[in-house]
Amino acid sequence: MASKEQPSSCSVCGEMIEKNSLCRLHHLAKERLTQGYELWRVAYGSLSYTDYLHSLIALPETGEAVAAVARQILQKKE
Ligand SMILES: [Zn+2]
Repeated sequence: MASKEQPSSCSVCGEMIEKNSLCRLHHLAKERLTQGYELWRVAYGSLSYTDYLHSLIALPETGEAVAAVARQILQKKE
């Protein structure tokens, strides 16, 4: 199954792609983000993915790579 419109560079930073249209750094950041959502959802009972991303970006301890991926996902949703 070949996807026709695979971008050739990371959709966040433009570096060479490692996996899923993201470079190694942002692919790892996205995995961390997804794992974090599972934890937050359990902790908060109900939390939408969008709310989670907004909260994550607002946190000072969120790494720049994770925040960049979160912002990009939110942009795509709008
Ligand atoms: Zn990247």
